[in-house]
Amino acid sequence: MANKAYKFIMYPNDEQKVLFAKTFGCVRLVYNHWLDRKIKQYEEDKTAVTYTMCAKEMAGMKKTEEYSFLQEVDSVSLQQSLRHLDTAFQNFFKQPKTGFPKFKSKKSNKNSYSTVCVNGNIAVSNGFLKLPKVGQVKVKQHRDIPSGYKLKSVTVSQAPSGKYYASILFEYENQVQEQELHSFLGLDFSMHELYKDSNGNEPAYPRYYRQAEKKLKREQRKLSLMQKGSKNRDKQRIKVAKLHEKIANQRKDFLHKQSRQITNVYDCVSVENLDMKAMSQALSFGKSVSDNGWGMFVTYLKYKLEERGKILVKVDKFFASSQTCSCCGYVNKETKSLAIRTWDCPQCGVHHDRDVNAAINIRNEGMRIALA
Ligand SMILES: [Zn+2]
Repeated sequence: MANKAYKFIMYPNDEQKVLFAKTFGCVRLVYNHWLDRKIKQYEEDKTAVTYTMCAKEMAGMKKTEEYSFLQEVDSVSLQQSLRHLDTAFQNFFKQPKTGFPKFKSKKSNKNSYSTVCVNGNIAVSNGFLKLPKVGQVKVKQHRDIPSGYKLKSVTVSQAPSGKYYASILFEYENQVQEQELHSFLGLDFSMHELYKDSNGNEPAYPRYYRQAEKKLKREQRKLSLMQKGSKNRDKQRIKVAKLHEKIANQRKDFLHKQSRQITNVYDCVSVENLDMKAMSQALSFGKSVSDNGWGMFVTYLKYKLEERGKILVKVDKFFASSQTCSCCGYVNKETKSLAIRTWDCPQCGVHHDRDVNAAINIRNEGMRIALA
């Protein structure tokens, strides 16, 4: 069995918006209430409050007059909130570095809740998503759900821009036949245009995307100059959030398109195994590396290939791809500097574009690993 998530924009009516807001609030209240409860009990006698205990207490709480409003929202979403809290604690005990679970604040702009499909109470059809308590919510369904996909769960969220999203998880039987590998491609990571491939091609982010990026920078600068707490600043904050979302969506579309095109043509794609976090810190490229979308692109590429029985190979990052001549294997230490964009191999005389040569080496190394 395999899982796949689809994210749709939702267009709830006013009544549904009220219910969403109520559910966000209840889910937050439940989380914070039992987080506090767990902390207090632990301080008192060093024992833990289990999920089952929390769920039992919550059932009792819903019957009291004070908390009867909890009955107005999807009950599974409240249970899920307790489960998330439980997971947060387990993660903390397993790996203290992840940090102690924190109280959820109204101000953090993170409005979301999750619910699980039970007996078909959640379904997508004809441009509508059916949700418990909320009913049929209009969605922009940009792709069909393949038949045989079973709906497992939904996370409803509201972005800072005010837009609503549904992230829907499906389960399906994975019966992919492994492909014989005939066509190979290597990709060399590029900061500005995502990558250069072993055929010398470079995907270009569309012009409108670059323009939106520039606009975002301008608007962010404006925001930083505005007085804290002022109404104008609030307006500007929403404007910036909307732009952010627009750019993120444009980037996703672009990355999906690129990875789909590659998957249509190639059976085995190789990339360097890069640690983007370390890279942006070490080279102080800062935001541009994290926003470049490479990590997301590799994820898309991997699942798209695997869906068709094809493969993605990650080549060791210490493999000296830019210094080795892809024709004769000569290692040219003089090409170490990033400033050298082209070079001639002193041994075989072939003229190289730095990035294309690196991409060819990555392709060859991936091919070696895949066919071994
Ligand atoms: Zn050579």
